[in-house]
Amino acid sequence: MSLQQVTILGATGSVGSSTLDVLARHPGKFNVFALTANNNVVGLLELCLRFRPVFAVMYDKTAAQALAAELARQRCDTSVLAGSEGLCHVASCDEVDTVMAAIVGAAGLPSSLAAAKAGKRLLLANKESLVMSGALFIDAVRANGAQLLPIDSEHNAIFQCLANGSEQHAAGVSKILLTGSGGPLRTLPLEDLPSVTPDQACAHPNWDMGRKISVDSATMMNKGLELIEARWLFDTSPEKIEIVIHPQSTIHSMVQYVDGSVVAQLGNPDMRTPIAHALGWPVRLESGVEPLDLIAQGDLTFEALDRGRFPAVALAEAAARAPGSISIGLNAANEIAVECFLHELIRFTDIPIVIEAVLDQTEAMETPTIEHILSVDKEARHKAREQIGKLAKSR
Ligand code: NAD
Ligand code: MG
Repeated sequence: MSLQQVTILGATGSVGSSTLDVLARHPGKFNVFALTANNNVVGLLELCLRFRPVFAVMYDKTAAQALAAELARQRCDTSVLAGSEGLCHVASCDEVDTVMAAIVGAAGLPSSLAAAKAGKRLLLANKESLVMSGALFIDAVRANGAQLLPIDSEHNAIFQCLANGSEQHAAGVSKILLTGSGGPLRTLPLEDLPSVTPDQACAHPNWDMGRKISVDSATMMNKGLELIEARWLFDTSPEKIEIVIHPQSTIHSMVQYVDGSVVAQLGNPDMRTPIAHALGWPVRLESGVEPLDLIAQGDLTFEALDRGRFPAVALAEAAARAPGSISIGLNAANEIAVECFLHELIRFTDIPIVIEAVLDQTEAMETPTIEHILSVDKEARHKAREQIGKLAKSR
């Protein structure tokens, strides 16, 4: 059997490196065709020297030049491309079978969509692209015969609980139970929330992830984005998705059926499990993840979501029920607010305030085109910055 050719978008990130870890365990099955990064020359250089891909892409053009020069000096014949065009090329070119979409944020939309339009086997970690483009993205997958496999651990779990995506089983579903740990601030006294630092917010108790998704986990906007993601991936209404707090992150989500059955997927919190599942599907692959030790694990507990502590969830729920464009505003405002929080320009508790103000000003459009999506995104980023400026002035 010929090797599956794999492109990893966002190879230097947390999901990117877990993907390379799994691929390296199966050299007889996969070949790394292309690796991409934003501007981390040292990181991508190291990966190119190790995996020798056909292409390396840097979003940043200056960084691309630096990488090309260094690869030439080290006699590595990987070709270097740059910019959004480069990312879309390696996501869609004929030689590629599988694309791991692991860029963070809206920056991942053009390349994820290019892979969908090219009918690839698409492993989607970049939830923001689906939150932004919902129906348009799913239509592109269907119209072009792409195979969409969820990497987000909850959605990968749901996919597995739906008997590996079988439509027959999906017919008897009464509810999707989307689990979340509650993040690092679940039990912090409420009066301490305004003074939470970026490092505190990023110190997730169970998962080791990039900083943007770590802050999203601390506000629980991550669960809100996941609710919107689940709605599109599993073609269901937001009302049929229930968020359940499960602090141990051992159950990764559940599906409840009309006969009273609840099917759960369990495992250690390690992204290599969903990555290996999707890379091999429908065949199971060894992932390097320790087997789950249920006795050592001990209690599995569940709680209701504390809505007062996590106002971001209600904003995402409202966006999920509103016309498609509102989710674009939600995502864009969140990205800007998180970035400003990480740079200590706003407080932790300002994040949902900024998002709510932007949502109130986001134009409602039922089925935005790609041009609309990009313009609503741009406008919402501008509004979020304005709002952050106002907050700074008022203090
Ligand atoms: P990360 O910050 O660790 O890595 C992000 C990657 O994207 C890097 O390779 C970076 O170079 C690249 N990138 C950043 N900005 C870019 C730009 N403008 N253009 C091109 N490339 C750019 O992020 P991560 O934690 O690996 O998360 C990646 C995606 O996967 C996110 O959408 C996140 O929500 C999702 N996800 C992550 C995890 C996790 O465990 N880390 C779990 C579930 C879902
Ligand atoms: Mg998740």
